[in-house]
Amino acid sequence: MKKNEDTALLCNEYTMDTFARQATIVRGRGSRVWDQKNNQYLDFTSGISVHNAGHCHPKIVDAIKSQAETLAHCSNLFYTPKNGLLAQRLSSMGLGGKVFFSNSGAEANETMVKMARLYGNKDGRYEIICMKGSFHGRTLGMISATGQSKVQTGFDPLLPGFRFADFNDLESVKALVNDHTVAIMLEAVQGEGGINPATPEFMQGVRNLCNEKGLLMLCDEIQCGLGRTGKMFGFDHYGVKPDACTLGKSIGGGLPMGVLLATPECSGIFTPGSHGTTMGGNPLACASALAFLDVYAEERLADHSEKYGELFKQGLQKFVEDYDEVLEIRGIGLMLGLVMKGSAQDVVDELRAGGLLALTAGEHVVRLLPPLNITDSDLEEGIEMIGDTFDIMFGEDADEE
Ligand SMILES: *Cc1c(COP(=O)(O)O)cnc(C)c1O
Repeated sequence: MKKNEDTALLCNEYTMDTFARQATIVRGRGSRVWDQKNNQYLDFTSGISVHNAGHCHPKIVDAIKSQAETLAHCSNLFYTPKNGLLAQRLSSMGLGGKVFFSNSGAEANETMVKMARLYGNKDGRYEIICMKGSFHGRTLGMISATGQSKVQTGFDPLLPGFRFADFNDLESVKALVNDHTVAIMLEAVQGEGGINPATPEFMQGVRNLCNEKGLLMLCDEIQCGLGRTGKMFGFDHYGVKPDACTLGKSIGGGLPMGVLLATPECSGIFTPGSHGTTMGGNPLACASALAFLDVYAEERLADHSEKYGELFKQGLQKFVEDYDEVLEIRGIGLMLGLVMKGSAQDVVDELRAGGLLALTAGEHVVRLLPPLNITDSDLEEGIEMIGDTFDIMFGEDADEE
């Protein structure tokens, strides 16, 4: 017991103080995880939209095990079988062109931005219009592309070449286009920024604007992609296709992976030597990703997400009616946000005390990202736990007010 309790102490003593961690998790299965004292939690974070197929899915575990015993890594100096198979599978999922593998979402976005810059280089175009409230990762380049000052503060000078428009305000995007503009980059549903879905007029307007002005439309699908919103990609809700998009989080089936996907027209922008990676697309990560995509298809995770997202939304809606503190439910599929009048963190803390793990997205939004293959009973239990928590916090017998 003593040894286990030391985990938090060890992490606090020896890892840099960048995360506010609140529990020690030692084991996971499906939509549940356990802490070191064997307390069980319903996990509605899915490792921040990583475990779209739930924790330790047996098919993904088997694929990782058998690949680890065969060949884990050998660098991109060599072809490896699963690398090609995964690239083919990803290409067939929507954009039809080639892919580039990396190790994280931020890195995939870096690759997408580098590709856009290379594309515009011959005619002096390099500026990328990004959105306020966006999130694209924590590298120096990607905090420069992220429209939230909280990730940028203290890191000046930032990388130049990014300008910020108001999300869902097409005029504000148009106003930023100039001779140097090469691309527009956005999330179909902003995740970290507060579960904000794009409006159809905005997504379609951005696509049209890109067509008119010869700009690349770049979609960051790292959080909203792979069935999270009830369709393969977030942009699928809008009847548009970007010129390139990125995947991260869930694509690796729990292992680190990022991917840039492009249309055939954009697939030849990088040339030999113009970009690279040591670990990106290694056999172990590719085996895990392929297994995840098998599960995605076999278990119809996108359809499940659409259906259970609707049930979840209905279940949560009554809390908007019952409690003044709950303002609104927003989101699509199983990417939902509870907009609170007060602190979202307080709600997340209270939920955890009651046995449910959730996330914040900004100060006032409680973000709920259950695994896409959640069962009826787990979803019902989650809704009940949220209701119990609101009752404790805001019910008639609550201490405050
Ligand atoms: C998480 C996230 C990223 C960054 O991914 P990392 O793997 O943490 O680098 C980028 N964009 C979006 C939309 C994300 O949700």
